[in-house]
Amino acid sequence: MTTIGPKIRRSLRSAVCTPLHILLNRIDPPVIVLLYHRVATLASDPEMLAVTPENFRAQLLHLKENHQLVRFEEDWTKKTKPAVAITFDDGYADNVLQALPIIEEVGVPATFFVSTGAIGSTREYWWHELERLILGVRILPPRFTMEDGSGGRSWPSATLRERREFYHGMVRLMNDTDAEHRNNRLAQLRIWAGAEPAPAGTHRAMTVEELRLLDGSSRVTIGAHTVTHTRLSSLTADAQREEIMASKRQLETWLGHEIPVFSYPFGRRCEYTKESIALCREAGFSKAAANFPGQAHRWTDQYQIPRHLVRDWPVKLFAEKLRGFWSR
Ligand SMILES: [Zn+2]
Repeated sequence: MTTIGPKIRRSLRSAVCTPLHILLNRIDPPVIVLLYHRVATLASDPEMLAVTPENFRAQLLHLKENHQLVRFEEDWTKKTKPAVAITFDDGYADNVLQALPIIEEVGVPATFFVSTGAIGSTREYWWHELERLILGVRILPPRFTMEDGSGGRSWPSATLRERREFYHGMVRLMNDTDAEHRNNRLAQLRIWAGAEPAPAGTHRAMTVEELRLLDGSSRVTIGAHTVTHTRLSSLTADAQREEIMASKRQLETWLGHEIPVFSYPFGRRCEYTKESIALCREAGFSKAAANFPGQAHRWTDQYQIPRHLVRDWPVKLFAEKLRGFWSR
């Protein structure tokens, strides 16, 4: 039996898909929605969430020169040309301190989806605390065993490679649980590593004042992104309702106006449910953003809008990636 190699499979797929996308793009010019998280220069970035200010500026200039830009919350059905929308997830302080001045300078619209639980907190986001505890410079005991009534999972942590596997294993586990369990696991890890909870430093979320500053820009729209950034598909319908509704209410209280749009934490299809979509409609959001690649057409589900993650690409590579996004 012969198997088709990944390279041949890719070119077969693109031979079939590309003409179909070209046809669909002629019928209805698509919107490509870009997903950023951070604009910062970091010493370590294992989740590859940060784009440097230099690359971000060059990427925006490229977009401005070569593409029509639309706002995420706009009605896209009337547009006559393909377009790009810029979005950010989570609510890092660097969105205000680094990204906003570049957005204003270049003059492009952007939507920022914010998790309200982290706003104003001096604590790190849980994924940064994991990174600091497991991949940081400290000397660790050779093994960590988690006590959570599930039989005690255990990871070796003696070598760098083991620590990396441990870190990625913990990220997967934490993605699958709620805030209470995450905090319990972080507390266990802190005791095990002999570490204190640290102030968030460069990884902090924005304060309420910074959120208001961001919202005050005519280029910016603020959207909701739950309270605790928990995978919605891991929650009961009632807990999902609370995460979605409370984040919208809290943002509206802080900012004094309606919050029109939402994005799902993590955002892959397995990370939200039919109930999440129904709750977004019920909450009065006009659109919700997901996190899987694709183009937004007139016929795309407005509550599962695909987005393309942007990495710290120099402008040449960014332009190349964008060309690929039009045919994927
Ligand atoms: Zn997020």
